[in-house]
Amino acid sequence: MRKLLIIGLDGATWDIVKPWADSGELPLFKKLMAEGAWGPLRSVTPNLTPPGWTTAFTGVNPGKHGIFDFFTLDDGAENPRVISSADRKAPALWEILAAAGRRAGVFNVPTTYPADEIPGFFITGMGTPGLTGPWCHPAQEAEALRRRHPRFKIGADHHLIETGDYGGFLDELYALTDAQEALVLDMLERHDPSALVFIYDDLDRVMHFYWRFMERAHPRFQEAAPRIKNAIRDYYHRIEEGMERLRAAMGPETDLCILSDHGFGPLHTDVYFNRILADWGYLGTKGAAREIVAKPLWKRALKAAVPQGLRTWLRTNVKASPLAGPLGFIEWDATRAFYASVSGRSIYINLKGRQPHGTVEPGREYEHLRAELKARILALKDPLTDDPVAQAVYGREEVYAGPFLDRAPDLLIQEDGRYAYRVDWSTERFAPASQYGVDKSGSHRTFGMLLLHGPSFKPEKIEHAHLQDVTPTLLAALGLPVGDDMDGRIVREAFAGAPAESRTSYAGLRGGSGAALRSDEEAQLAERLKGLGYM
Ligand SMILES: [Zn+2]
Repeated sequence: MRKLLIIGLDGATWDIVKPWADSGELPLFKKLMAEGAWGPLRSVTPNLTPPGWTTAFTGVNPGKHGIFDFFTLDDGAENPRVISSADRKAPALWEILAAAGRRAGVFNVPTTYPADEIPGFFITGMGTPGLTGPWCHPAQEAEALRRRHPRFKIGADHHLIETGDYGGFLDELYALTDAQEALVLDMLERHDPSALVFIYDDLDRVMHFYWRFMERAHPRFQEAAPRIKNAIRDYYHRIEEGMERLRAAMGPETDLCILSDHGFGPLHTDVYFNRILADWGYLGTKGAAREIVAKPLWKRALKAAVPQGLRTWLRTNVKASPLAGPLGFIEWDATRAFYASVSGRSIYINLKGRQPHGTVEPGREYEHLRAELKARILALKDPLTDDPVAQAVYGREEVYAGPFLDRAPDLLIQEDGRYAYRVDWSTERFAPASQYGVDKSGSHRTFGMLLLHGPSFKPEKIEHAHLQDVTPTLLAALGLPVGDDMDGRIVREAFAGAPAESRTSYAGLRGGSGAALRSDEEAQLAERLKGLGYM
């Protein structure tokens, strides 16, 4: 049986890979590009990691799979909740493979915790609270895996970057990448799946933090030692080495799909959307919001003076203030619209009947407010450059369609990547982009990359592929029917022969593991996402 190897490179872009492949600095990419089909891969709108990967692995738009962000705002809730794999409402590729009687290995796909119990193995990715809950299937292997791979953990230690230790953070990312690969090679040997999904998610982190050392044109370009300056290129190199090992482990009769969930480019400026909504009169704040403004200062002082353990304790306990929760500064009765999560690029209307202290009537008032906000956000300019901070603002029904549309935020904002949007309160509307109080210089772009290589595919230029095309294309390569509900197309131009073209319904497959997060897991995860700069 033909095997399938899917390698996800979070945030990888041809803008980086192609020049370095052409010049021979990325020799494996050069070879795969010469022998395979490749081209840009359009991301979802807005181009975010959770809906991006979920669309890639379900073949449907977020309106059908229900994942829009790391967070969701349940009806009747004041603060967003962290999502789990139970929020995924469409079957993923690995569930379809399981139904077809094929064994798969899935490793490190974001927002897949708790693990799906498929034939083969499943290790959850970003959005996993820690190595105590159901992060590993088969669950009885978890303990032995932890013993054999003591350096494996969920997510790199972000405190290194918080203290500005760029070299130490790189060491940390490399050590974690080594441990992830060692663990998956170990699992491959023992489970021998016919399909493997492996995601390099730390590529995203490298590009977020090291971009300004690479690009001279960046407004905050900084000369640095070669290891820091070349961090992005060297990490792509490191990925090539890993890809060689994974290819060797899967064997020669394997189709290879390399994809990213979005592209990457320079990031310049943070936009404090709730501050702007307050200035415009749409958002009211509690008097104590003034105190929050002072927080970054005491946080910085704390970071310099207090040991890490105590800092964590303070963060956990001081948080229990009347302003607890990421939106704790909002005076709901005086609010008509708010920006809900840093990772969501979206605005919610404070709607009567849905929000606990809703102020806006559904229907005409809601529509009028959305139209007004859309126009104002599109006209919003960066005072330093006079550039618009949003490329497009969409009503949710303009970009998503499906039964879970009503879970989506009311307005979705697509920026051009040089701007990042913040959820926290600030005295300023704009500031140089940062995370953990350190410079953040790279961010997402709309076009990621797709490369198809192996016995099913031929050398070809791929022109118009979208994340939702990935699952239909891979099902066709495996000779399996495409789901009749899938939004994506088979990327036919990449196939060496005519691909299988049957369709079937996978509606009977449930999608996502049954269990929602326990409250302690959610608290743990919230802390982790905060560490990643998402809260
Ligand atoms: Zn991503």
